[in-house]
Amino acid sequence: MEQQAPPPADLNAPCALRMMLIRRYSYLTLKFSNPIISASGRWEASWNGGGTAADTEAALLATVLEKFQDCGGAEHSWETTGTVRDPLNGENVILTQRRVCNYCDGKERVITLYHPGPTAEEDS
Ligand SMILES: [Zn+2]
Repeated sequence: MEQQAPPPADLNAPCALRMMLIRRYSYLTLKFSNPIISASGRWEASWNGGGTAADTEAALLATVLEKFQDCGGAEHSWETTGTVRDPLNGENVILTQRRVCNYCDGKERVITLYHPGPTAEEDS
């Protein structure tokens, strides 16, 4: 994990943060469940490629932010700079992304996404 100190995400406003993350990571199909409806009876998050659970919503959101390397800032985003079909598994696509944020560095990452259907690029 990186040893820098971005502004803390506002975990006092979990609803607003949750909605922002759902929008920001819609391409990962990020979903949240509360203990009333979740299978585990805890706060749960799931997305294409992963999932996590916690005893409180604030703890869940903190874990999701950490896993997504997201400071929770309003302008934070991962910009996808390349999309290729996984040569080892045709049902996956490999995304190259660059972090765009006033508080975080512009590191690049590569993520694998389960995406058996054609991507926007493949469709055109
Ligand atoms: Zn950030």
